[in-house]
Amino acid sequence: MFDLSGRTALVTGASRGIGYFIALELARRGAHIIAVARTVGGLEDLDDDIKAVGASATLVPLDLTDMKAIDALGGSIHERWGKLDVLVANAGVLGTISPIGHIKAKDFEKVMTLNVNATWRLMRSVEPLIRASDAGRAIFLSSGVAHSCRPFWGGYAASKAAIEALARIWANELVNTAVRINCVNPGATRTAMRAQAVPGENPDTLPDPRDVAAKIIKLADPALTETGMLYDVREDRMLRYREPE
Ligand code: NDP
Repeated sequence: MFDLSGRTALVTGASRGIGYFIALELARRGAHIIAVARTVGGLEDLDDDIKAVGASATLVPLDLTDMKAIDALGGSIHERWGKLDVLVANAGVLGTISPIGHIKAKDFEKVMTLNVNATWRLMRSVEPLIRASDAGRAIFLSSGVAHSCRPFWGGYAASKAAIEALARIWANELVNTAVRINCVNPGATRTAMRAQAVPGENPDTLPDPRDVAAKIIKLADPALTETGMLYDVREDRMLRYREPE
């Protein structure tokens, strides 16, 4: 089991679901967690769980659609730690499941603002910090629909395809540094978002977010060599994209 003692990890969407357990698993390996989400109660529960495994967290109650606050977060991390070892860009919203022609403009924009704009803004905010780490690791939560393009999932699928493009380009830009950047397709997981997406489904048939998170955190291993790849949790396999031309 790899060790993250003395390392700092920023996890967005850490108040519940997959992000909560990614944060907890990283803490279990000794990382100090910077936990971002809007719901203070969820962050406080995480803080209790992190303390129980002998680690520590800094709670950042923040709406990630506040772009200036994302810029300020990078500044605060710089002042306090001077670097960032792990970024987990996990926060996301589903938006409405509906035919493209029926999606309301405000719903489409909401999905893009959080899933795409805030993710790019976060990358830009932390880039100097993650480059300052001796083994910077960035993990981006995507989805199978970015590739399957399932009908009615238009806004969400497009946002995840955009996240993958940004992450791959960032990986190609930083390929000659110590930073390693990868995307993840977690597969259907028992969370609030999945219940919203597929309301009739029996959640007991789905993998537990604890187990999914335990697999994802291998992308934070300081010894990881792969970059610009897509980790498929269900298949437990790193998938290679086309090389840039
Ligand atoms: P949840 O809905 O359970 O959790 C989403 C997290 O994002 C929450 O912590 C929420 O915190 C945070 N978040 C949402 N909006 C904002 C905001 N404006 N500012 C800050 N934080 C925000 O989702 P999952 O755990 O299911 O999903 C995690 C990631 O995995 C997502 O990117 C999702 O797209 C992806 N994914 C999930 C799958 C699944 O089956 N569950 C399948 C494929 C991909 P709060 O509300 O407190 O702000």
